[in-house]
This record gives sequence, C-alpha cells and structure tokens, in this order.
Amino acid sequence: MVRDLARAGIRDARVLEAIASVPRHRLLPEAMWEQAYAIAALPIGDGQTISSPEVVARMTEALELAGSEHVLEVGTGSAYQAAVLARLADRVVSVERIPRLAARARRSLDALGVTNVVVYLGDGSLGRPAEAPFDAIVVTAAGPRVPPPLLAQLAPGGRLVGPFGERGRQELLRIRKQADGRLVRERLGACRFVDLVGQHGWAA
Ligand code: SAM
Repeated sequence: MVRDLARAGIRDARVLEAIASVPRHRLLPEAMWEQAYAIAALPIGDGQTISSPEVVARMTEALELAGSEHVLEVGTGSAYQAAVLARLADRVVSVERIPRLAARARRSLDALGVTNVVVYLGDGSLGRPAEAPFDAIVVTAAGPRVPPPLLAQLAPGGRLVGPFGERGRQELLRIRKQADGRLVRERLGACRFVDLVGQHGWAA
C-alpha cells in the first residue's frame, strides 16, 4: 500500500511511515478486513466512510506536521486519520457527530494503544473552543464553506486542510494563518467527501 501511495505522489517519508504503522483493518468491522488495504474509501455504517489511505496521506502531508502540534480533526469516523495523526503530532482532539461512531472510534483507539487522541461527541463545525488554539486542523467531511469558528481557532502559523464546495464535488483547500492573522488559501485539487453536517455545514 505504501508503495502505491509513493507512486501516487506522497513524498513525506514520515507520513508514509505513519500510514504503514497503522493497522487499517483494526479500524474496520471484521467482515471487511480483506479489503482493508485497498486504496479506497470503505463504508463504516451510518452512511459514512473510512477515508482512502491516499486521501489520508495527502491531507496529513498538507498539514506539515513536525511532531509538537496540537491538532483538531473534525469527523472522527473510524479513527483511521486520527490514528495516523497521533503518530505525527503531540496531541489530537477529534470530534464526531454520530454517537455510535464516536464510541466505536474510542474503543478502536484504546485497542491500538493510542493515548494522545481524545474523541468528543458533537458538532465539529464549531471546533473545540475550550482547547483552542490548534496548530493544525483537518476537516474530513465537506461543507459549503470553511467554518468561521475553525479559522478563529487556528493558531498563527497554523494550517487548516479540508474539502469545501458543492455537495458531491469539492476542492481540497489548505489555509495558512500568517503571524499577523492574515489567511492565505491554496487549492490542492478536486475531491469528493461525505457531508459536513452542522451549524457551519449542511443541514441534517
Ligand atoms: N476521518 C475519518 C476516518 O479516517 O475514518 C473519515 C471520516 S468520514 C469521511 C467523515 C466523518 O465526519 C463521518 O464520520 C461524519 O459523521 C463526520 N461528520 C460530519 N459532520 C460532522 C460534524 N459537524 N462534526 C463532527 N463530525 C462530523
């Protein structure tokens, strides 16, 4: 799988190592273990998906983590992305809106021995003001626009990466907050994610 990711253009060796070290099958129901290492998104129930390893690699690479960061993830899902981030950052705060997925993600992370990720149940489009600022924010579900609370909770020098745009077709964006608070946007390519549902996303 890691060879496929390198071939697909993922260059950051730390990201490739982190992906290689996470047993993706352990974040999926046993019936799906055979497909676990395909470069594809897979269903995890409740109409949601575990992101493709390529998408996780691209988004993680775009966050430019050095190891000391306090990271916010919006959309825990299976906890696959969270488990990868846990290997590359100091602490990860992850928010999931579906109770069953949040509970399963906590159990999966415990079973993997991941101790630097905390999963909260709630509307991640509001961020997590009590734990802000964040050095990096990754949004793993797509909303019509970048939620303003997330931009407010990004530290100076921080990066936010996520998909934004129309339903079913979005642009992956990276937004850097400069030291003076100015926001600089970069387009990282077309993508397609499940809906970000919440106050600053789509209506349920
Ligand atoms: N990061 C996940 C992984 O590695 O499995 C992929 C998650 S899936 C593509 C997107 C997730 O975002 C779903 O679990 C969905 O329930 C969640 N979600 C959607 N809107 C949300 C919101 N406002 N707050 C928190 N989670 C949300």
